[in-house]
Amino acid sequence: MDYIEYSIKKRKKERKIKLAAAVAMIAVAILIAFSVFRSGGDVNEKTTKGVSTETGTSEEAADTTLFEDVTTTKNRTEPPSSASTAATTTSSPREENTYEYAYAGFAPAVANTDISEWWLILVNRDNILPKDYSVTLAEAAPGTGVNLDSRVAPHYAKMYKAAGEDGVTLTPLSGHRRISTQKNNFENKISYYQNKGYSKAEATQLAAMIILPPGTSEHNAGLAMDICSLDERFEKSDEFAWLCENAAEYGFILRYPKDKTDITKITYEPWHWRYVGVKDAKKIKALGVCLEEYLEMY
Ligand SMILES: [Zn+2]
Repeated sequence: MDYIEYSIKKRKKERKIKLAAAVAMIAVAILIAFSVFRSGGDVNEKTTKGVSTETGTSEEAADTTLFEDVTTTKNRTEPPSSASTAATTTSSPREENTYEYAYAGFAPAVANTDISEWWLILVNRDNILPKDYSVTLAEAAPGTGVNLDSRVAPHYAKMYKAAGEDGVTLTPLSGHRRISTQKNNFENKISYYQNKGYSKAEATQLAAMIILPPGTSEHNAGLAMDICSLDERFEKSDEFAWLCENAAEYGFILRYPKDKTDITKITYEPWHWRYVGVKDAKKIKALGVCLEEYLEMY
């Protein structure tokens, strides 16, 4: 009996050992399979990345060829890998600033909008708004449907009300303007000068004296308002006289004065008033300088 019992126990033990071995083998097999799968995944991932990069590059290259024939030539004469690198390198500055490629003679720096004194943001033909610049809008005067930066709108509303009490209506004509609208206006103006016989380069420079390229206008930032009229004769009006007398009290300045066109590079615009805050508006008015000069002194 003892022997039989011993044999049964022994067999049970052997079975246990075999079972444990089988479990261990299965575990090892799973581990090996998993590691192969993982390495396959990496390869797949790399391939996918490679494809996506190539697609991106070729799209950029296709875009770039619209602007630069040089890239096309490079793509033809160099091996594909170098061509891709060349295309990527060529296209990257364009990503940083589209406008400099779009309009010959313009190479604006990205305006510094990340300042605590946001009312002094300088936007002009040399300082373009960042691509991701966003503005929260508010109606400048009740019922007009014309918007400004929501931080500026209450100041315009206050000025509008005060002028109204003096019997002067400061009709808001154009406040915040979408960049796409700015682009259309600017390009229409270029066409206008081209139709008059100017070259594209000359027409672009002439257009920019009147309408700034997209992203370089204070209207795109919602910081300025065109008031009452877009005619230079506006300077003879009661509204203009009122603004010259009182606008600084509400933080607005005449942005493109007659005697500063050599600095602003913009024709005299008696209707264009820019918000710069009460304190700075008063200083700018007292000094008789334009915003560019003021910021140099500042
Ligand atoms: Zn304007």
